[in-house]
Amino acid sequence: MPEQVPLDFLGDLRRTHTCGQLRLADTGQRVILMGWVHRRRDLGGVIFIHLRDREGVSQLVFHADDAFAEAHDKADLLRSEYVIAVEGLVKVRTPETINPNLPTGEVEVVAEKVWILNESRTPPFPMEDNVDVNEDARLKYRYMDLRRPRMQKNIILRAKISLAIREVLDAQGFLEIETPFLTKSTPEGARDFLVPSRMYPGDFYALPQSPQIFKQLLMISGFDKYFQIVRCFRDEDLRADRQYEFTQIDREMSFPQQETIFSVIEPLLERVCAVAGFTVTAPFPRMTYKQAMRSYGTDKPDLRIPPFHCVEDLFPEDPNFATPGLPLVAIVIPNTGAPTRKERDDLKAFGQERGLRVFDDAKRLERDAPEVMAQVRARTGAGENDLLFLCGWLGEPKGHRPEETVLLAAGQLRLFAAQKFNDRNNLLNPTDFRFAWVVDFPMFEWNDEAERWVAAHHPFTSVHDEDIDKLTTDPARCRAKSYDIVLNGTELGSGSIRIHRRDIQSAVFQSLGLSTEEAEEKFGFLLEALEYGAPPHGGIALGLDRIVMILAGEKSLRDVIPFPKTAKGTDLMCDAPSSVPDKNLRELNIQVRRKQ
Ligand code: ASP
Repeated sequence: MPEQVPLDFLGDLRRTHTCGQLRLADTGQRVILMGWVHRRRDLGGVIFIHLRDREGVSQLVFHADDAFAEAHDKADLLRSEYVIAVEGLVKVRTPETINPNLPTGEVEVVAEKVWILNESRTPPFPMEDNVDVNEDARLKYRYMDLRRPRMQKNIILRAKISLAIREVLDAQGFLEIETPFLTKSTPEGARDFLVPSRMYPGDFYALPQSPQIFKQLLMISGFDKYFQIVRCFRDEDLRADRQYEFTQIDREMSFPQQETIFSVIEPLLERVCAVAGFTVTAPFPRMTYKQAMRSYGTDKPDLRIPPFHCVEDLFPEDPNFATPGLPLVAIVIPNTGAPTRKERDDLKAFGQERGLRVFDDAKRLERDAPEVMAQVRARTGAGENDLLFLCGWLGEPKGHRPEETVLLAAGQLRLFAAQKFNDRNNLLNPTDFRFAWVVDFPMFEWNDEAERWVAAHHPFTSVHDEDIDKLTTDPARCRAKSYDIVLNGTELGSGSIRIHRRDIQSAVFQSLGLSTEEAEEKFGFLLEALEYGAPPHGGIALGLDRIVMILAGEKSLRDVIPFPKTAKGTDLMCDAPSSVPDKNLRELNIQVRRKQ
C-alpha cells in the first residue's frame, strides 16, 4: 500500500450515473461516477482504470500532459479496490480500443477530477470469477466474495425472484403476514434450536422449524390467503445441501382443493423461471406416490430420465433368478451406445451394494429368453442404441414395505446409470427443467429408532377420506392428502390439505403414539382453536434457496445465500458459534458443562 494516501470527503458530491450505464449516446456529457478500482493499467503518460459498481464497469482515462495533471497524480496512488469518485467527460473510444465485452465498451470517461474516498488492503483474492478461490477464504472474507461478479449476479437474481413471488401472490390476493421467531416447538421432524428465557429460568423458546401452526391459526382467524418469505431453523445434521437456517416461500389458504394449491404455484414457478430467463409451461405432470415409486423408484422423480418398468410378470418365478413376489425392474437409458465391460461391472457393483442382482448383459438374456425379452423391449420401448438392463432382489424381503425397498434400490441404480452415461447423451442437461407433482403420499413412515409410525409429512396433514377408518387399524396403508413439487430429481417443496377437525386431529395424534396428556401439553392451543370454527385449509412451502440455486446454475446453496454457514455449521467471518461471558450465562441461569 503506498504510504499516506490523502483521503477526500464525499461532501455533497452526487453521482450522475452508475458504472454500467454509459453508452455512445452519452458522449460529450459531464458525469460523476463512484465505485471501486477494479483494474489499473499505467502506460506511462496515461493511466487506465476500470471503475466498478453493482451495475457494471466503466473505463476511466487519466492523462498526465494536460490541464488535469492533478487527477493523473492521484490516479497514480490508486490500487485495487480503492473507493473513488471521478468527474469527467464521456468520450467515444477510438475503433481499435473499443471493448466489445463491456456494455459500456464504446466510450470512456476522460477524468478531470478524482476524489479518493477510501483505500483498501490488498484483497485476499482477486475480484474475478475465473480464479479458483478456496471456500474457507471466501466465507471468511464474505463481503469481498460478494463483490465478485458471479455472487453479485446470484444475489441480484435472488432479490428479483423474491420480488416476482411477492408480485404473483399479491396479484392473486395473498397477504404477507409475519409469524414469530421466538415460539414453541413445531414438529417438522428435525431438532429445534432453543433460546433460553431470562425471565423464566429453565424455560426455552424454540426457533420455528416452519410457521406451520401459525399459518393454520391465521386460517382460523379468517385471513384466508396467507404467504410469507420466511426464515426457518432446523438443527439437523448438515449435508452438502442443507443449512441450519433457510428460507421458505410459505403459503396457506382456506377452502382449497389440492388443485387450487397447484393452480397458484404453477404460475408462480413459471414466472420465477422467466425471471431467470427460462421458459417452463404448466400444467406440470401429476403422479401418485405409488406411480412414482413404480416408475422411478423414488418420490423425487427426475423426468429427464425415462421411467423404468416392472417386468416380473413376464418372467417365470425362479428364486435363483430373483426373489419371487418382488419387483423385477427393466431400466433403459437412451442413446448410450454399447456399454463397455467396465461400465457394466460398475452398474453391477452399484446394484449389488444395495441388495440388487443386476442382469447387465441384455444380449445374453435375449439369447436365453428371446420371446420374453421381446416383450420387455416392447414394454420399455428400448431401442438398439439404448442401454437396457434388469435388476431384481436377491434374498429375503426387507423393510415394512418390501416392494418399496426394491424399487428404491432400482431407482438409485437408474440415477447412477444416467449419470454414468451423461457425457454420451447429455440427458441430465441442467437447463432442461422438468417439474412434477407427486401426490397421495403414505400418511405414516416407520421409524426404526423409535419403533413406531411417525407422520410422513407432519401430524397436521389430512388422511384421505376413504382411509380415515384405517388410521389406527392399518396405518401402513393410509394415504395422506399431501403433495410435493419436484424439479429434476430435487424436492422443491411440500404441503398438504390439513386436518381442520379436532376429533380427527386427536385420532392422528393417537396413532402417532401421543397420549391425550402429551397432545394436550404440546398442541392444546391448536386443538382448542380447531373447536372455534376452523375452515378446511391447506398449503405448501417451497425452498427459496434451492430454487435460486438451480436457476442460477449453482451446485451449492452457499453460493446463493449472502451469509451462509459452512458445511460444518460455522460462520467463519464472525466466528459463530462462540462462547459467551459467564455474566450472560448467569443472567440466563445456565451452567455449561465444558468439554475436557
Ligand atoms: N410446513 C411444511 C414444511 O415446512 C410445509 C407445509 O406443509 O406447508 O415442510
